[in-house]
Amino acid sequence: MSTMDNVEEVHENLSEHCEKHPRELIKYFCPVHQALLCGDCIVLDSHTCKLESILNVSFSFKDSSVYKDIKCLIRKLADDACKTTTTVENKAMAFGNSERKNENEVCDFQSKVIACLNEQFQNLTSQITKVNRELKINLLHLQKISKETEDEATALKADMEKNDNNNVLLFISAQRSKYRANDILDRLHRIEEEVNNIPTFEFTPSSQFESALKGRNCIGAYRSSADTYEHSSDKICSDEHKGSFTTVVLIVL
Ligand SMILES: [Zn+2]
Ligand SMILES: [Zn+2]
Repeated sequence: MSTMDNVEEVHENLSEHCEKHPRELIKYFCPVHQALLCGDCIVLDSHTCKLESILNVSFSFKDSSVYKDIKCLIRKLADDACKTTTTVENKAMAFGNSERKNENEVCDFQSKVIACLNEQFQNLTSQITKVNRELKINLLHLQKISKETEDEATALKADMEKNDNNNVLLFISAQRSKYRANDILDRLHRIEEEVNNIPTFEFTPSSQFESALKGRNCIGAYRSSADTYEHSSDKICSDEHKGSFTTVVLIVL
């Protein structure tokens, strides 16, 4: 090989620029520092190690065990990187699925709770309607016989007053009234007794339910599997979420 050929080979193969001095080509290798160096590296950084020419060290590098080890390492690295990407992608997919599943579960639970509450409220109002309908009928009946009795008593009174100037008629009227008065009095007592026996009603909200609603996680909780904090006061959802997690409380209602 002539000198000119050598120069051309040098120019052809030495094409990589130094990272530290971008205008200079990498020409040397320092085995001590495992460093790729250019002319500036040696002069400006006063590199004093014994250096190898890049051309020399690279000449049979391809067949060396060092290259085989590096190649093997890089291939494994590429495989590992691919596996990691797959793992992350799978996790991202699982995360999306889990999010949708969680949202659906919350919606389902919300519907269930609302349906259950609606039914209970409906039962309560139906009960109020039913009880009051019966009582109203009873009261209407009492109002009717009370009015009739009052009319009877008023008629007796008027009859007595009408005969005030006639002793005979007054006597007869008084005798008749005496018997009817007892009957009217009995009826009045029965009516009053029945009125007094009519109970009054009031709605008492369930204090247990009210305090449950005020509970931090009364509806349920969204928790991280990574958290191991125990919520001992979390009574309502403790059955469904035994175990322990931190919490993002879901306000559904
Ligand atoms: Zn350099
Ligand atoms: Zn060195």
